[in-house]
Amino acid sequence: MAYNQDTFLYALSSNNAWAGYKSHQNPSFFSKLASGQSPQILWLGCSDSRCPETTILGLQPGDVFVHRNIANIIAPTDINTSAVIEYAVAHLKVKHVVLCGHSACGGAAAALSSSRVGGVLDTWLTPLKAVRQAHADELDAIKDDAARAVRIAELNVEAGVKVLLANFTVQDAIKERGLEVHGCLFDIASGRIRDLGFGTKGGRGMGFDGSSEEVVRGKHATLVFRGGNASMSAAR
Ligand SMILES: [Zn+2]
Repeated sequence: MAYNQDTFLYALSSNNAWAGYKSHQNPSFFSKLASGQSPQILWLGCSDSRCPETTILGLQPGDVFVHRNIANIIAPTDINTSAVIEYAVAHLKVKHVVLCGHSACGGAAAALSSSRVGGVLDTWLTPLKAVRQAHADELDAIKDDAARAVRIAELNVEAGVKVLLANFTVQDAIKERGLEVHGCLFDIASGRIRDLGFGTKGGRGMGFDGSSEEVVRGKHATLVFRGGNASMSAAR
């Protein structure tokens, strides 16, 4: 980003350039988008600026319905998360729900620390603090700070997937039309997403095995889940 310019003005001019480029590449891109959405993926992730789901999945506007919050906490009493899940699953009928944590998460670091952040943040992070307490022995045995933060992020995803699998809307969609739930972790340092195998295919180790490749055709790209990784083929 050009930091010598006003950041917001730069962002607006960047948007203008992007819109021009997309229209040049595909003149009907925006008119098709404007006609409606039918995303196949619901992404539940962290608000962290380094985890922009559509970008890191290599997908396009229209491909991913999204809810992000600090430390990707899935609390059953959070009406915001619950409304997004219900709309995506019961109305948009997405085929995949992806709960994705990430390495170097500030929320994970805060939950691992014994000090308070202050304000509403400690309240928000309470479920993650509970995960930390439930797995204190395992987490305390990890000497490396970064590795401990990755582990609590994995445990947080596991806890979140359990909440998702206990959600009636999600349960009905799994039963009625084979909705898949995936628990993943995004490694910021490599850009790779790892399937943790906590979801509906958890019984098969990493969640996705090589023999059952899952192909999700987005509006503008094809996402392939294979062997615990998601990859994207070129846009049509
Ligand atoms: Zn985070």
